[in-house]
Amino acid sequence: MNDSSQNTFDCIIIGAGSIGTPAAFYIAKSGLKVLVIDRYPSVGQASNKHAIGGIRATHSDPAKIHLGNRSLKVFSTWETEFGDDIEWQEGGYSYVAYDQENAALLKALILEQQQHNLEISWLDAPDLLKIIPKLNPQDLLGGTFSPEDGSASPLKSAFAFHKRAAEADAVFNFNETVVDFISEGSRIKGVVTDKGKYYSQWVINAAGGWAKPLSKKIGLDVPVEPDSHEAAITEPVARIFYPMIVDMRKRPGSANFYFYQHPTGKIIFCMTPDPPILGTHTIASSDFLSKASRRLIEIMPVLRHIRVRRVWRGTYPMTPDGSPIIGKVNGLDGFILAVGMCGQGFMFGPGVGQLVSHLVLNELDEADKIILDNLSFHRKFESEEMLK
Ligand SMILES: Cc1cc2nc3c(=O)[nH]c(=O)nc-3n(C[C@H](O)[C@H](O)[C@H](O)COP(=O)(O)OP(=O)(O)OC[C@H]3O[C@@H](n4cnc5c(N)ncnc54)[C@H](O)[C@@H]3O)c2cc1C
Repeated sequence: MNDSSQNTFDCIIIGAGSIGTPAAFYIAKSGLKVLVIDRYPSVGQASNKHAIGGIRATHSDPAKIHLGNRSLKVFSTWETEFGDDIEWQEGGYSYVAYDQENAALLKALILEQQQHNLEISWLDAPDLLKIIPKLNPQDLLGGTFSPEDGSASPLKSAFAFHKRAAEADAVFNFNETVVDFISEGSRIKGVVTDKGKYYSQWVINAAGGWAKPLSKKIGLDVPVEPDSHEAAITEPVARIFYPMIVDMRKRPGSANFYFYQHPTGKIIFCMTPDPPILGTHTIASSDFLSKASRRLIEIMPVLRHIRVRRVWRGTYPMTPDGSPIIGKVNGLDGFILAVGMCGQGFMFGPGVGQLVSHLVLNELDEADKIILDNLSFHRKFESEEMLK
């Protein structure tokens, strides 16, 4: 392949996943020439399609609240605006509390969240049971309820962003792997793939679980570790509940457990392994289902006879503090990180896409600046996100 103008772009995005695909849409829409490169044959084939689809603005960090709010706006209006069905469901989120420790933590967080005008409140057990009648009432103290949060299909969303990005003339090169960068002094000028070389003013690393080895090529140590998580989907049943239910109690072998009922009636559930299982393995483990189904039945006993159709395993691109890394890197020109999305990359996709488009266009607003400050690569990674 020649190094001609055909291979020259305003912006190259590495990765057509939860982050790279909406970023391509927003940047191409602004009129810039965008190339997206992904090693897989189509969009969303890595972590994106392993996500269970939860979307919320109710975080504890202001940067994540801004990203969540922006994304929620996009997901909830996408079908009306563009006509693509992405299975948006405004079912809300509920963090349930069965012990005083979690009740106190959630109540304290609500005060912060309400300061950011988030629609969230604490409901004591009787009121929560009106919204989720089949919750196990034994020892239930109550829980949060944020009715504006919801869910959508990660794969359908990635296809929708891809379709609209391609309409805005973004070029997608699939089945192609970025193996190195082209640099001159402190400026990153492009990428080398297994098929050729491409030049651009901006290179965005949106490589998810592969962000670290890729960034090493330019001497950057980006603290993102692939951390494997599993999920399962059941047969469809009549509607039982709407919200995404999150149980933060620790159980042997697991930390958080969360589940919701898809518009088709299937129950989708997911568990955070404790201790974490690092790596990009995608073969489901033998003990996930027994542990996770025990947790499901513990919270919602009515589901005890439901049949599980499929189990899968994917990657959270984890950072030490549970928050993403977004923005430029001191001493490197033309390079942007949009990585380390942890368990929230799907829900942050459109918000991060808008943010990096503002960065590339040099059109940052006040909220963008807060996000970039809090999620900087140069932060200390000392605090810990409570609702990661
Ligand atoms: C079981 C499970 C449940 C989850 N549930 C949720 C949820 O409910 N809500 C939520 O928001 N998030 C959820 N997540 C997390 C979410 O899936 C991730 O945070 C998100 O997909 C990360 O997005 P990303 O774009 O950074 O990575 P990806 O979507 O993995 O995209 C990265 C892309 O980069 C490409 N790539 C990497 N290196 C190269 C290279 N060298 N050359 C070319 N291409 C390259 C990969 O092929 C990939 O397509 C869940 C994850 C799992 C595993």
